[in-house]
Amino acid sequence: QQHTGDQRVAVIGLGRFGSSLAGELMRRGWEVLGVDEDERLVQRHSETLTHVAVADCTDIEVLRQLGVHEFPSVVVAIGTDIEASILVTSNLLDDSVPNIWAKAISRQHGKILERLGAHHVVLPEHEMGERVAHLVTGRMLDFIEFDDDYALVKTVAPEVATGVPLGVSAVRTKHGVTVVGIKRPGQDFTHATAETVVAPGDVIIVTGRTEAVEAFTELS
Ligand code: ADP
Repeated sequence: QQHTGDQRVAVIGLGRFGSSLAGELMRRGWEVLGVDEDERLVQRHSETLTHVAVADCTDIEVLRQLGVHEFPSVVVAIGTDIEASILVTSNLLDDSVPNIWAKAISRQHGKILERLGAHHVVLPEHEMGERVAHLVTGRMLDFIEFDDDYALVKTVAPEVATGVPLGVSAVRTKHGVTVVGIKRPGQDFTHATAETVVAPGDVIIVTGRTEAVEAFTELS
């Protein structure tokens, strides 16, 4: 769990993934230490991040000198060099960093990082690929899947959900999904209630089991 109050993150590897992540943390007002062995990359981020350093983080002494082991959260954003990713992650585990996030470039790589004990493993390309598949094949405008087979989806309302109040169309009992938000063309999203009447062309936010949500968005 994230420490409250201590808004510091160290990002090891300032490639495409690491630099986007570090930039977003800065925009959210967090303190970011960015480390990469590539001096040019570090130079590029020296103005935008709180602290930067040029270092090879496979060396545990180097990590200690930089104080990385004292950060509550560290992201290992090294993908291509799997050996370096594994070494850096085990160094951080040796120093008991409480929240280690590691990026993997393949399922096998991810499995090794999990076995090592990384607290969170992300597979950005696989996860994004699966997400885009949902957008390409269906009527979903956006799709987020959580653990345990539960999803949140943005979609144009299927006809079965329109014309009568949501309480009457009984979308939840009939289709196993809950409409939580609604957006009329040209308006902002608002909460949906049992009294809400969805009109054809409205965009809705729906939650439920992934399968139920998929089936619901394919209804006409
Ligand atoms: P992306 O796909 O996000 O660009 P890469 O795996 O290509 O990810 O980039 C990883 C970054 O991590 C590179 O900028 C690389 O220089 C850096 N890196 C790789 N090994 C080390 C290491 N041992 N110590 C510090 N930085 C490293």
